[in-house]
Amino acid sequence: MKAIRKFTVRAVLPEPLAALKELAGNLRWSWHEPTRQLFEHISPELWSSCGQDPVALLGAVDPARLEELARDSDYVAGVEEVRRGLHEYLEEPRWYQGLKGEKPKGIAYFSPEFGIAAALPQYSGGLGILAGDHLKSASDLGLPLVGVGLFYRAGYFSQSISPEGWQLESYPVQDPDGLPLSVLRHPDGSAAHVSLALPDDRVLHARVWLAAVGRITLLLLDTDIPDNPDELRTVTDRLYGGGGEHRLLQELLLGIGGARAVRLWTSLAGRPAPDVFHTNEGHAGFLGLERISRLIGEGLTFNEALQVARAGTVFTTHTPVPAGIDRFDMGLVERYFSSGLLPGVDVADVLALGAENYPGGSPGTFNMAIMGLRLGQHANGVSKLHGQVSRRMFNGLWPGFDPDDVPITSITNGVHPPTWTDEALVTLAEEKLGTAHTSTADWASTAVSDQDLWTARKRMREQFVLDARRRLIEAWREQNKGLVPPSWMSQVFDPDVLTIGFARRVPTYKRLTLMLHDPERLRAMLTHPEHPVQIVIAGKSHPADEEGKRLIQKIVQFAEDPEIRTRMAFLPDYNIQMAKVMYPGTDVWLNNPLRPLEACGTSGMKAALNGVLNLSILDGWWPEYYDGQNGWAIPSADSAMDAAERDELEADALYDLIEHQVAPSFYERDGDDELPRRWVKAIRHTLSELSPELSADRMVREYVERMYRPAQHYASLLGANEYEQARELARWKERIHREWPRVAVTHVESGGMQQIPQVGDELHLRAHIALGGLEPSDVRVEVVYGQSRNGDELANTRVHGLTVEPHPNVTISDGSTLFTGTVTLERAGGFGYTVRVVPQNDLLVSPAEMGLVAVAH
Ligand SMILES: *Cc1c(COP(=O)(O)O)cnc(C)c1O
Repeated sequence: MKAIRKFTVRAVLPEPLAALKELAGNLRWSWHEPTRQLFEHISPELWSSCGQDPVALLGAVDPARLEELARDSDYVAGVEEVRRGLHEYLEEPRWYQGLKGEKPKGIAYFSPEFGIAAALPQYSGGLGILAGDHLKSASDLGLPLVGVGLFYRAGYFSQSISPEGWQLESYPVQDPDGLPLSVLRHPDGSAAHVSLALPDDRVLHARVWLAAVGRITLLLLDTDIPDNPDELRTVTDRLYGGGGEHRLLQELLLGIGGARAVRLWTSLAGRPAPDVFHTNEGHAGFLGLERISRLIGEGLTFNEALQVARAGTVFTTHTPVPAGIDRFDMGLVERYFSSGLLPGVDVADVLALGAENYPGGSPGTFNMAIMGLRLGQHANGVSKLHGQVSRRMFNGLWPGFDPDDVPITSITNGVHPPTWTDEALVTLAEEKLGTAHTSTADWASTAVSDQDLWTARKRMREQFVLDARRRLIEAWREQNKGLVPPSWMSQVFDPDVLTIGFARRVPTYKRLTLMLHDPERLRAMLTHPEHPVQIVIAGKSHPADEEGKRLIQKIVQFAEDPEIRTRMAFLPDYNIQMAKVMYPGTDVWLNNPLRPLEACGTSGMKAALNGVLNLSILDGWWPEYYDGQNGWAIPSADSAMDAAERDELEADALYDLIEHQVAPSFYERDGDDELPRRWVKAIRHTLSELSPELSADRMVREYVERMYRPAQHYASLLGANEYEQARELARWKERIHREWPRVAVTHVESGGMQQIPQVGDELHLRAHIALGGLEPSDVRVEVVYGQSRNGDELANTRVHGLTVEPHPNVTISDGSTLFTGTVTLERAGGFGYTVRVVPQNDLLVSPAEMGLVAVAH
C-alpha cells in the first residue's frame, strides 16, 4: 500500500533531554562532531539507518530508550554541555565582529540550491554544495548573512541503476515537518506568506520555511500550500525539473519572492535590512528588479533606482559554458512583467536588462546572466582561470574593451573544512597538534609522524571500502528482493590498493568515460600484479540528458566484467553522505574535464583537505594550486585537431601518469616500516599548503573584503541624503550616454625620445580630445601601452592617466581639449601605445563599467 499523505509525528522528549530538540533543530550538527556523537549514542543502528539525520532519529527511537538516557546523568550532562557550547557559538563575537571600519549590516545570499546536509536534499551538485559551505563558513566567521532559496518538495532526484546499467530516477517527496525546518510566522501565530501577481489575475503564494545553519538563517520558499490553485502548488516541486515557464516561475519566486521574504523576515525577526545582495549564479537575478520596484515606490526613477540596486549587488557567475546559462523567451518574460508583478517598473526596462543586444546575441532571448551583470556592479567568476574565461565570454557587453578590462574579477571557491574533513584527521590533529582546526593545523610538524599520517589515510580507505560494499549490496537487494547477494560483492575493493575516485555530475564536458578510452589498458592497470589500482565512480546525469545516461551505462557495463568487478564500481545515488566517506577514502582524485569548461571543481578541494592527491587537467582551481608536489597535472591537448584526437591524447597522458608515476610512487615502500615515503611527503605537503587556501573561510573572507564591503560602501554613498548621489549619478550617466558619440581622440603628438629610443627615455604625449558637451572632469584620458609583437595587438598592457593642460601653449583650432602625460620606456623590444577616453566618476568601480570608450585611430 502507498500512503496518500505522509506526516511526521515529532517525539516528545523527556525533560532532562529537552535540549536534544534544539540541537536537532540547528543544522550545525552537520559539521559539529560532538553533537553528532550525542545523537549517534542514542542508537548507532538507527543513526545509520536514518541517514545520520537527528530529526528522523528522534522520530524513530523507542521512547523507552529516551527514558533510559534521561536517567543517565553522564549523558544528560553531555547534552547540557553541547547545548551550552551551541549557545556560545551563536552569541560570541567572531571574526566579522572584530572587523574595523564600515561593513555591511546585512547580506542576503540567494541561490537556487543549498547543499547543507544529506538530511536536507535541496541540491543537485557543486553549485548547491558551495552555497551550503558559504553559509557554514559565514556562520563560523560571524557574518550577518541570510540565505534565500526555494523548498523543493522532491528536491533533486534519487538515482538507481537498472540491470541494463540505465539511470532510473525517483522523486521521494520530502515532508517538511520531518526536516529541521520551522515556519516563518506573524506574532499572532499565523504563517507569513509572500505573494506574486501573475498574468490572468492569478496570484502565486509561498510560505517561508526557516532553517538554522549555525548562526545563519536560511529562508526557503514553498508554493505547495492550500492558498494556491493546484497548478501553482507545483511551482516548487523539483529542482531543475521543468523548462520554460515552470523554470521562469521558479526564478521569479526565488528573486522577487525571495527579496520580499527577506523583508518580511527582517521585520519579524527584528534584524537590520540587508545592504548587500549576493546572487549565486543568475537564477535569482530578478531580485534586483524587486528592489528597483521598491525604490521607485520611494520616489526614484527607474534609472536612479537601478544605480542603487546595482551598487549593492554582487553577482557570481559559475558557468564557462554559454549553454549553461538560463535563457527565456522574450515574449514569455514580457507577459509576466506586464501583469502588475512589479509596481512602477516598465516592462520595456525589464526586457532591456536581459537583452542580448551585442554581436552574436539572439534578439528574442532574455538572458539571466546578462541581466545579472547589468544589475550587479560587482561580479566574479569562481577561479582565476574561470575569471579569465568569463571576461572573454561576456566581452560583448563591454565593446571596445580588451577582455582584461572586463569588470568581472574572480574569487576562487573554497570548501568547509569541518564538513569535509574526516574524523581520522581531526582526531590526529587534536591528539598530535593540539587543535581541531585541520585547515590551519601545522601538518609540517614532526609531532605528526609519517606513520601517523599513513595510518589515518588507511583508516579512511578502509571505512570507504566498507561503505562502498554496503551501498552496492543494498542497491543489489533493492533490485533482487529476497535474494542473497553474490559473495564477490563483499570483496569489492581492497583497503590496501591504490584507490582512484571520480565522482561528479555527468555533463559531457566532464568526460566521465575518458578512462575507458583504451579499455585494455585500463583493464591492465586494474589487474596489475604488483601495482593494481581500483576506481570508484559516481554521479548523476540530468534526467533529460540521455547522452549522460549512456556514459553512465558504459561505465556500469564495463565494470560488470568478472575480472575487474572487484576493482571498479559505479556507486548509485551520489550525494553528500556518500561524498563525505568517498573523498577521504581515495588516494587520488581524478578530474579530466575539457579545459577550460570546469569553472572550479570543488570535489578535488574536498579530497585535498583529507590528504588526497589530485590528478587533474589544469582546469578550474587546479592551475592556481598545482605545484608539482601535491599531485599531477594531466596535460591538455589544446592544439588537437578535433575532439576525438584530443580525447585520445589526453587519455594517453592520463594512463601514462597512472602507470609510470602514480602507481609506482604509491607502492614504493621504504625502510623497516614499509611506508611510501614520497607519497606521505606529498600528503603532508598537501595538508599543510593547500588546506588553508582551499577553506571556505578563505573564500568568505575574500567575499567580505573584495565584494561585500565595496558593495556596502557604494550602496551607502548612493543612499545618503534621500538618494541624492543616486539621482546625481543617474543624471550624469544620461548626460554621458547622450554626449558620448561626440567624444573622440582627434590627434596625438609625441616627443621627448632620442632618435633611436632606448630604455629610460621619456615619451611625452599630447592628446587632443574632443569632449562634445562634457567637462574634462567627466572623462579619464589614458595612454594604454605595452609590448607590441606581431600585428597591432598590445601585450602586457599598462595604463597611465593623462592630465588636462590648463594653459596649452599651442592654439587648438578644432575646439578639442589638450591632455598630456609622460611614460618612461622601461623595457627593450617592441613598444606600442594608444590613447583612449573613458567616463570617469568616483562611483564607477571600473573604467569599463559603462561600456563606453573612445580610442585613437
Ligand atoms: C562537491 C560535490 C559536488 C561538486 O563537485 P565538482 O568537483 O564541482 O564536480 C557534487 N556533488 C557532491 C555530492 C559534492 O559533494
